[in-house]
Amino acid sequence: MQEHINQANQSLLHVYNRFPVIWERGDGCYLYDVNGKKYLDFAAGIAVFALGYNNSYYNNALKAQIDKIIHTSNNYYSHPANLAAKRLTALTGLERVFFTNSGTEAVEGAIKAARKYAYLKDGHSRHEIIAMNRSFHGRTMGALSVTGTESYRTPFEPLIGLIKFADLNDFASVLSLVSKDTCAIILETVQAEGGIYPAEQEFLKKIRALCDEKDILLILDEIQCGVGRTGTMFAYEQYGIKPDILTCAKALGGGFPVGAFLLSERVAANSLKPGDHGSTYGGNPLGAAAINAVLDLFAENNVIDQVRQSALYLEQNLDSLAAENDTIVSRRGMGLLQGLECRGPVGEIILRALDKGLVLINAGPNVIRFVPPLIISKAQIDEMMAILKSVI
Ligand SMILES: *Cc1c(COP(=O)(O)O)cnc(C)c1O
Repeated sequence: MQEHINQANQSLLHVYNRFPVIWERGDGCYLYDVNGKKYLDFAAGIAVFALGYNNSYYNNALKAQIDKIIHTSNNYYSHPANLAAKRLTALTGLERVFFTNSGTEAVEGAIKAARKYAYLKDGHSRHEIIAMNRSFHGRTMGALSVTGTESYRTPFEPLIGLIKFADLNDFASVLSLVSKDTCAIILETVQAEGGIYPAEQEFLKKIRALCDEKDILLILDEIQCGVGRTGTMFAYEQYGIKPDILTCAKALGGGFPVGAFLLSERVAANSLKPGDHGSTYGGNPLGAAAINAVLDLFAENNVIDQVRQSALYLEQNLDSLAAENDTIVSRRGMGLLQGLECRGPVGEIILRALDKGLVLINAGPNVIRFVPPLIISKAQIDEMMAILKSVI
């Protein structure tokens, strides 16, 4: 394996420090490397493989679509995209959807919709967006502009202008940045990459009220926390509020690269028009078939109910580990998006876990992230805890 890794390192652009493993295949919640070693997966390809690996219903749905048609362009309609659009709008209560190929593109579209909405309203294009420190929204220039880690942004400036950063769960910090030119507030309902910080109930309610009062658009980025992971289809459902624009990706395609942004009818009708936005591949029949297969499986297998039960069990286990272990500062999270903050860097713990057949990832330097496939069982949580305890 090491020889192949050394060879790959000579040609791949070095923007990732990859783990020393080459995956061959996956099955359910397990991965197998090219030597046949089996690993329990609590990373799910970064919260993507919601339904586990090698699901026969999902695989067959994609194979069937490949045999019909893979791509048409958005100049035409297709049944898979029509159906996926109808289902996603019904699930969210947001009436309009645009399909993308990734999360970052969904954020780009959301930003454009917000800027266009304000432009049509005020007749000028100097509109500000308030984003959160510690947030992560993607790597393209627009999404990077609203990402709250300065070191990610600085080398690539000038980014899109007029972005201000507040602190999640500090309403006063948001309020102090609002001006007559604020067009949107963007935040992750649960900050994921930044260290697993859920938005607080009071905070999000106040943000919603502020947006309503000032006609500011609330963009919720649920690319990581959406699609069942927190125990509801979308995390915002647990806050009793609705965004004006929602971004979605990762688990949405169950492994196939897709994304989407959804808008309320009011925002859609007063923002992006023909010619304002587009994508060659977004919503292509194969990607849309993947979304439909994921949504079929959610309905048929009561995935959300399963998440609630297993999440409770995972939380209890992580809490008792945190209580008995000095290395751990706290547990944070919602549903099957959990983090254990440790007193120091967690890289060594993750490497040792990998060696023992457990795949974990971090969320910032000091936080171990737990984002297993949503079909994870209690027995598999026990299996994970045993390895975690032994390496921590
Ligand atoms: C992963 C992620 C993105 C970016 O998605 P890509 O598909 O990698 O472009 C944006 N926002 C959040 C919250 C994410 O977790």
